[in-house]
Amino acid sequence: MSEFSVHEPVMEHLSRKLERTADALCMNRMDAHCCQTKEEALALVKSLLRKDAVVSVGGSMTLKECGVMELLRSGDYQFLDREAVAPEEQQDLYRKAFTADYFLCSSNAITENGELYNVDGVGNRVSALIYGPKEVIVVAGANKIVSNLDAAAERVKKLAAPVNAIRLSQETPCARIGACSGIKGDMAAGCHCEQRICCSYVVSGYQRFPNRIHVILVAENLGY
Ligand code: SF4
Repeated sequence: MSEFSVHEPVMEHLSRKLERTADALCMNRMDAHCCQTKEEALALVKSLLRKDAVVSVGGSMTLKECGVMELLRSGDYQFLDREAVAPEEQQDLYRKAFTADYFLCSSNAITENGELYNVDGVGNRVSALIYGPKEVIVVAGANKIVSNLDAAAERVKKLAAPVNAIRLSQETPCARIGACSGIKGDMAAGCHCEQRICCSYVVSGYQRFPNRIHVILVAENLGY
């Protein structure tokens, strides 16, 4: 008879899911790590970043929750901080991200098959994830892990998009009704409103450049 206490099997189940997902990401030539806590994840991010490097980020609640944004503003890096510039200068800053040493973001979903799934409105985040910055660091909580790409698309349509639309005060149908108006359609089905936050759908699978993308999986719920 095993000696597990009440919550231990749940934690063990979660750890094994993170490890399986990390292994699948490594098979796709991403450098994947598992952390138990966001504090551990922050220390790992710090160890991956070179001092004085040019660093950029994609909008992410996960990075805020882990203390990464604070780290980037510590003065140890040349941080292209979009919150420190006027709105009309942001597009220039997004373009500068393509020549950055590091780009940091989260992922809307990560499949247990080792794929990153991301949906953008403007497209600056997904484009920098695909190409440009020398290295990319993705930090994601266990809540972002899903079984496959269908579940990833559903996660975005039912949770990530509506919640992000509310956070950004966007008057989209999903913010109003709680899920994408195109929930029954294909991956890119959706609304036709000006403020649509889902325009580009990107799956990152097997990578041409090994270990350019680092993925840090955290055994906690982070972001949405
Ligand atoms: S397509 Fe429109 S309604 Fe659907 S999730 Fe995106 S913003 Fe919301």
